[in-house]
Amino acid sequence: MTDIFASLESEVRSYSRGWDTVFDHAAGDSLYSEDGTEYLDFFSGAGALNYGHNNPLLLEPLITYLRSGSVVHSLDMKTTAKRRFLETFLELILVPRGMDYKVMFTGPTGTNSVEAALKLARKVTGRHQVLSFTNAFHGMTLGALAVTGNSMKRQGAGVPLNNASSIPYDGYLDRQTEDLLWLQRSLEDSGSGLDKPAAVIVETVQGEGGLRAASGAWLRRLADICQQHGVLLIVDDVQAGCGRTGTFFSFEEAGIRPDIVCLSKSLSGFGLPLAITLLKPELDIWQPGEHNGTFRGHNPAFVTGTAALEHFWNGRGFEQQIAARAVQLHAALATLAAGIEGARVRGRGLLAGLYFPDRTMARKIAAESFARGLLVETSGPEGEVVKVMPALTISAENMARGLDLLAGAVRSVSCERPEELSSDFGGEVLEPPASSSVLQ
Ligand code: PMP
Repeated sequence: MTDIFASLESEVRSYSRGWDTVFDHAAGDSLYSEDGTEYLDFFSGAGALNYGHNNPLLLEPLITYLRSGSVVHSLDMKTTAKRRFLETFLELILVPRGMDYKVMFTGPTGTNSVEAALKLARKVTGRHQVLSFTNAFHGMTLGALAVTGNSMKRQGAGVPLNNASSIPYDGYLDRQTEDLLWLQRSLEDSGSGLDKPAAVIVETVQGEGGLRAASGAWLRRLADICQQHGVLLIVDDVQAGCGRTGTFFSFEEAGIRPDIVCLSKSLSGFGLPLAITLLKPELDIWQPGEHNGTFRGHNPAFVTGTAALEHFWNGRGFEQQIAARAVQLHAALATLAAGIEGARVRGRGLLAGLYFPDRTMARKIAAESFARGLLVETSGPEGEVVKVMPALTISAENMARGLDLLAGAVRSVSCERPEELSSDFGGEVLEPPASSSVLQ
């Protein structure tokens, strides 16, 4: 039988190469292939499935909505589903956090939200330059690609990527020199050669770029510098947002208030495409329709997005559940890292991973994990970090099961001191290690 994926689908396909099976159904923490093999999912649709697969709390209202004859597609018209989403977002997310943002519906992907943020920052300030950080990832359309670090992805643009420059992220230098010193000095010095930027765009945890997590102190300093110099601060919370790091927005612990926030991935909660850009009200100088798109605010995604907010973000209980799973995860990763020279835990909350100095190791571990029934991907410019991103709703048991599978994979790939690697992560919960970059 011909493999239609190999014969017809473009060479650009990627996940289907490493995970060479045909997935057929999914429930909760697992995906199942056509032959019935279970794969525990520590990937979560790259952050689009924070509440697991086919979560019944979201599936039921979606089915009811689709059967009811309600509107599915409506561009940015007013609909009842959109009203409920906006009201719920205001009541459960913005008001309790004392946040005053307007909501812009962009095309339904993260890169669309980023494009809107960049356009708006340039329009508001009248400046063209945007600063981004080393190893940043903001999307694949040309504006977002210009603020993305990965050279292979940048080359794919085929045109010069300009009006943007990259500066050192937290911890990029030698940890002696303050990473934001150059930014501060350059903005103060009229001879620095830096065109005053419209905005700085930042991820609080670099999801694709190697899972470095910025400290709260670093984020606050960045916010201060931006404010002092009239530079807009954009937080790209497409991957780290919607609870991934423990709070709804990843910057809450740092106590900063970005001018613009990008959200997508798990906003619909169900894996349905949906994206928004949040902007401070005074920045809302758009002309009607100046930025548009056919799929802005998809009604089925509003229905599941509203249900996700109601079920998980009405109160603080879910944050405590995420924190408990994060402690379990970071403790297990620290144990694994301790067994391999130079290995380190990276990330924050349930967006975490293991960095290996041997650049081939993470890839081998991901492949071995797949063979053992666990989906984990790699992160970083050379895929040098194993990225662990289970659903936020994962049970303690499935977390322990997945961590045992991961430990087995690490052990089989590692030749160094394998005897030191514990095989049993059976739910023992320890304090997170200092190296886990918990925000100060
Ligand atoms: N920003 C960040 C931080 C991301 O992680 C991603 C996707 N990995 C994007 C933007 C782009 O999102 P999308 O793939 O939906 O365009």
